[in-house]
Amino acid sequence: MDATRAKTEVSKQKQANNGGAMNRRGFLGGMAAVSGALFGGKRARAAAGREKMDGWTGKISGFGQTGNVYEELGLTTVINGQGTMTYLGGSLLRPEAEAVMRLASLHFVNIMDLEAAAGRKISEMLKLPQGYTAIVTSGAASAIQNGYSGILTGDTIAHIRQIPDLTGLKSEVLIQKAHRSPWDHQIRATGVKLIEVETVADVHNAINERTAAMHFLNLADPDGQIKRREWLALAHAANLPAFIDAAADTPPKSNLSEYANMGYDLVSFSGGKAIRGPQCSGLLIGRQNLVRSALLNMSPNEDVLGRIAKVGKEEIIGLTKTIELYLAEDEEALQKDQWRQLDTISAAVSQISGVSISKNVPPIANNFPTMQIHLDPGRTGIRAREVVEKLAAGKPSIVLTAGESPDSNTIEITAIDLQPGQDKMIGDALAKILRARPA
Ligand SMILES: *Cc1c(COP(=O)(O)O)cnc(C)c1O
Repeated sequence: MDATRAKTEVSKQKQANNGGAMNRRGFLGGMAAVSGALFGGKRARAAAGREKMDGWTGKISGFGQTGNVYEELGLTTVINGQGTMTYLGGSLLRPEAEAVMRLASLHFVNIMDLEAAAGRKISEMLKLPQGYTAIVTSGAASAIQNGYSGILTGDTIAHIRQIPDLTGLKSEVLIQKAHRSPWDHQIRATGVKLIEVETVADVHNAINERTAAMHFLNLADPDGQIKRREWLALAHAANLPAFIDAAADTPPKSNLSEYANMGYDLVSFSGGKAIRGPQCSGLLIGRQNLVRSALLNMSPNEDVLGRIAKVGKEEIIGLTKTIELYLAEDEEALQKDQWRQLDTISAAVSQISGVSISKNVPPIANNFPTMQIHLDPGRTGIRAREVVEKLAAGKPSIVLTAGESPDSNTIEITAIDLQPGQDKMIGDALAKILRARPA
């Protein structure tokens, strides 16, 4: 892109992002009009509030009748001592959230209006700063991709249709080298190039007219030279939006508003991890104009990059209820309960020769009770990885994390996803394997 054209585009972008007449109408005003332009006309029919019960008696026949849909499909469910891993299903949905999802499934509603209304309710519950709102996305990854789409396109329909072709648009996002992660694929999906930096001087050198935003991976705060407040200050000094991905960084629940209060322009969270909302949900929190632009790039709109990131009325309602429930929860009591479960496991194995125990609460991501069982393979006769494989192959199947390196041979356990009684099952199974070493 040549410099003159870039400059024109920069000023157009600024208009779209900050000053456009569209944005002054506020988050809801004009939403239907812009959204209408992104729908096929014949499909823009208003969804009437029709109530039509399907006559279900509450009794399942056919598939699902045994109560274990996974076993009916020939699968084995597992005891999850690994934590809120998406590949295992993340977390178990709160019963009350499930109940309101069922209620949500009984009616039609305009999804764009629902997103705006849920966003207002979530903002109230989280006491977000003035000028901030939220939308429910199909996960934190979706919040990242759609958030960046919005940063790049503003409300300009032609740009929304155009990306990931960034001709004429900004095209670079700064990220600290230590903050690169599998989730930055979602940033690259919008077409931007990630520019790696390490020092403040690098940041100053890297910022140019193509720079669209600055990305921060919250869990990498200790690893990068530039910490979250300084990163934000650098972005704002350069008039750039700052995005922070805090997907797995609840608990504590105060984090849900912490980074918006700090001044981050966009913040992403997972809805299906420790907060136990719908598995395919997430939150994009941020400045109203940016959140609105993100939503325009997302399902239900068509011919948009985020059309693949569909979020249903059930998830929107389910996550809204989940946040209410999560905020009301006794965080300390929950932690105590998890420590008690980990203590049960520890008591079952700590006396075995070659076994030692440590416990911690990771300071940022997955900030909940975690226990490490260290093995001295010379004395236990078995390595962590073998133990974990045996547990997974057992009945019931138990999934724990093995950490092996030249100087560590460790099994790690969290209790965040353990159900009552599963602590004892894990302790018994572990003890059996660890005591069975060759004579
Ligand atoms: C889990 C995670 C994501 C993805 O979140 P989903 O809700 O599964 O889409 C993104 N970033 C980080 C840091 C995560 O831990």
